[in-house]
Amino acid sequence: EAKSMGSNRLRVYKSEYGEHASKRTKLLFDLKAAIANKKLSVAYQPQFKLDDQSISGVEVLARWHHPEAGLIPPDIFIPLAEQHGLISSITDFIMQTAIRELLDADLLYQRIPRVSFNVSAADFNNQTSAQRFLHNLADLPGDLSVVELELTETSALLNLEGVKKVLNVLRERGVQVSLDDFGTSYSSLSTLRLLPIQELKIDQSFVRDIATNAHDARLVKTILAMASALNLRVVAEGVESHQQARYLEQQGCQEVQGFLYAKPMGLQSLKSFVHNLSASAAQQ
Ligand code: C2E
Ligand code: MG
Ligand code: MG
Ligand code: MG
Repeated sequence: EAKSMGSNRLRVYKSEYGEHASKRTKLLFDLKAAIANKKLSVAYQPQFKLDDQSISGVEVLARWHHPEAGLIPPDIFIPLAEQHGLISSITDFIMQTAIRELLDADLLYQRIPRVSFNVSAADFNNQTSAQRFLHNLADLPGDLSVVELELTETSALLNLEGVKKVLNVLRERGVQVSLDDFGTSYSSLSTLRLLPIQELKIDQSFVRDIATNAHDARLVKTILAMASALNLRVVAEGVESHQQARYLEQQGCQEVQGFLYAKPMGLQSLKSFVHNLSASAAQQ
């Protein structure tokens, strides 16, 4: 009796596992096809200066519209790509696409002073990494200070030596470096000592409750004080309410990004967004 129950359970487990595994295999197969056929796309989320509400930059976010399953979130397909050696081809495609779109629409520099890309540990793991980045950015005239790379602490520390080497080459060309999801790993402070970083992005999990939770509010206040002492720019992520924005401004946060201001959007929407913003600024 017990034995047969056990083997039933095993059978159930096996078939669920099998289904799970084959879903992932199919997703991986489809992702490879999407990369090969250039079916990924980019979304842009504007970032703003709190003092005058002007656009300080855009973050570029990868998007995958699956023909049957619809929109697959990057939190699913980026880790899958990382595990299967596909991330550099995604990075290359995303960087080249965004640079071309933004230059063609004449949005970069005057209208949008900075473009930020998310990068992974594996983007830094060989001798040609720096050259690959520079190749992706080759259409930009002059120095590359309009470009920023967002690294998470976890990916930076997975490959510290590789990351350091590549970042030093890119820093000489003007590229800026931001530490993404700041505060969520065990080693935020050592990462700051070890890498050439100009910006911190306070993770949205810290921002979420600042208006209602005194402890979170003090944490954010402390991060801002530290960043100011270290001369780092701070962008607060995931700002969704005026109360959050007000607190961040009071505590000296320079920049914000979040649904309160703008959601990630395609190029056409970005064009109208930027246009409307400058039209309303001109009226004031
Ligand atoms: P991230 O770099 O921390 O990006 C911020 C995420 O927060 C984005 O999710 C954005 O849509 C979302 N977000 C922005 N404002 C708000 C808000 O006010 N409220 C809430 N709840 N969410 C907000 P998304 O686009 O789904 O990207 C998730 C993560 O996937 C990114 O987190 C990044 O780690 C990764 N990712 C996205 N694109 C790329 C890429 O091209 N390359 C790499 N390596 N990673 C990427
Ligand atoms: Mg990011
Ligand atoms: Mg983040
Ligand atoms: Mg994140």
